[in-house]
Amino acid sequence: MFDLIIIGAGPAGLTAALYAGRSRLNTLILEKLSVGGRILMSEHIENYPGFSTVTTQELIRRMEEQVRALDVKIEVVQVEGIDIENKTVTADGKVYKAQALIIATGAKPRMLNCPGETRFTGKGVSYCATCDAPFFKEKHVAIVGGGNAVAEEAIYLARFARQVSIVHRRDELRASAILQEKLKENKKIKFVLSTVVTEIKGAAKVESISVKNVLTGEEKNLTCDGVFIYIGYDPDTEFLKGKLDLNESGFIISTEDMTTSGQGVFACGDCRKKTLYQVVTACADGAIAADSAYRYLASKGK
Ligand code: NAP
Repeated sequence: MFDLIIIGAGPAGLTAALYAGRSRLNTLILEKLSVGGRILMSEHIENYPGFSTVTTQELIRRMEEQVRALDVKIEVVQVEGIDIENKTVTADGKVYKAQALIIATGAKPRMLNCPGETRFTGKGVSYCATCDAPFFKEKHVAIVGGGNAVAEEAIYLARFARQVSIVHRRDELRASAILQEKLKENKKIKFVLSTVVTEIKGAAKVESISVKNVLTGEEKNLTCDGVFIYIGYDPDTEFLKGKLDLNESGFIISTEDMTTSGQGVFACGDCRKKTLYQVVTACADGAIAADSAYRYLASKGK
């Protein structure tokens, strides 16, 4: 029996664990893959206060070290089910019990769902420039999307590729102004705007994409060696369906205190509905969630 179980060891879960550990709550983190989560798919971060730039690995290493020093336990297991009322979590066939729960499961990359995407995943289609960019030295790659992630990853890809074509469905990007300035300064980066990808094609690996201009209806073939997809993220909340209030996209509905519709269950980070999805806001959420869990446990006489 733990005081608190945190599901997910990204920046939100680790910060929740930091605050819970400092409140001397007997805390367990369950993580399905590796400590750090999705942020490790980016190479570095430039907008975490106090660091003009830091690698995500270094930032996570420091967060983990801080948490482990507080005797928080971390287990790498896949969560399969949750019982909100009894505060039990089933993972890899084992049942873990606590008095309060924090959900910090984050989100996973959204798919384009066009023909060829699944077939060529790992054969030219990628959702992680940091992992796969070195395979595209002096190649031409397309990168799909228009947000901050596309902007940052296009700049990273341009360090390896001969040309990076940003394919975006509208005529303007939603990425921040500073990132858009950097994109325009980079000679290797081209824009294919008002355009959607309709198919990813090739023999053994990606050789081209079919694209369609949404304004003119014109369709054409774009020769490329790789396609990186950065069109947003879907929350990792399938296991909560019917158990907690989620919005139509699956994000957890929570208050500013991180309370959810489940008593004694709190949410933080990218799995909850909010307006700004950043490492710094994930950490802030985590701190608040742990504080709310502490207050909840105190009200129960813990
Ligand atoms: P995002 O900001 O939600 O942008 C997703 C982009 O993909 C949008 O441009 C969207 O087009 C496009 N899109 C969505 N569905 C599509 C589809 N089916 N087909 C084609 N295009 C589609 O996502 P993100 O860039 O991955 O970022 C996620 C969150 O992390 C954001 O809150 C972002 O600010 C944050 N982030 C921050 C940083 C940073 O500050 N350094 C870095 C990375 C990510 P529309 O524009 O037409 O909607």
